[in-house]
Amino acid sequence: MNRRRLLLLLLALLPPAATAQDRETPAPPAVDAVRFTVANAEFTLMHEMGHLLISELQLPILGREEDAADQLGFMGLFLLQQEQHSAEFYAKLMDVADYWRLEWKKSEQAGTPVPVWDSHALDAQRFYNIACLAYGSDPDRLDWVLEVSGLPVERALYCPEEYQQVAHAVGWFREHFKRRDEQPLRHRIRVLYDTPPGHLPGGAELLRKIRASGELEAVARRASEAFDLPRDLTLRMTTCGAPDAWFNRIGGELTLCYERLAYFRELAEELPRLRSAQP
Ligand SMILES: [Zn+2]
Repeated sequence: MNRRRLLLLLLALLPPAATAQDRETPAPPAVDAVRFTVANAEFTLMHEMGHLLISELQLPILGREEDAADQLGFMGLFLLQQEQHSAEFYAKLMDVADYWRLEWKKSEQAGTPVPVWDSHALDAQRFYNIACLAYGSDPDRLDWVLEVSGLPVERALYCPEEYQQVAHAVGWFREHFKRRDEQPLRHRIRVLYDTPPGHLPGGAELLRKIRASGELEAVARRASEAFDLPRDLTLRMTTCGAPDAWFNRIGGELTLCYERLAYFRELAEELPRLRSAQP
């Protein structure tokens, strides 16, 4: 049976759609620039931690590493957040998807050629991939994700399964590569902060807030304790001259650029316009 016929059959078998009142489906959350910035900073950190773990633990990867790092980054958000079934948490997942939609729309408006050769999925695909995983993580409560993202039913139907596959893979690797209780803590990830440049608007304030949150230290500690890392590693906040982030596998250093966080804050201003336009 081809995919389209299967889809039509599945649609016919589905129970009639429940009304919003029946299921008390939450409404789409309001746009919030601070939440958008934090969510995307966390996703960037967890995506790069994905590269770090793939490289340091020699995780077996099927498919492209960048897709795997996005999936690890997405699941990493669940590990970071204590209260996962809150409206605030779901809103953060959609903030991460929306970042890729903003990049996609900006490039489209600027007429930038689509880098089909790139090792990353296209921005538009990263948007739909994250939106699909977000929806698939709790489809009964997240009808609004379909509405806000414009994710077509042809894809949405399979999102719960996509989410289950990713959750299963991450669960498997956490179990398979975990540091056993009897294993000593041999290596750690240390966190270093370079001074942000004077010309970066609000740079000093940004540094103060990141340090005060203690989030980088918490992520570094949890990863060091969860896995038997083969060497000491570094997580560095620094100035890069571009809104970037990467993991250097030779030096064993994960770099997060102040400019990237500042860029998220800047981009957040464009989000209300994007949301009010039809996807
Ligand atoms: Zn990457």
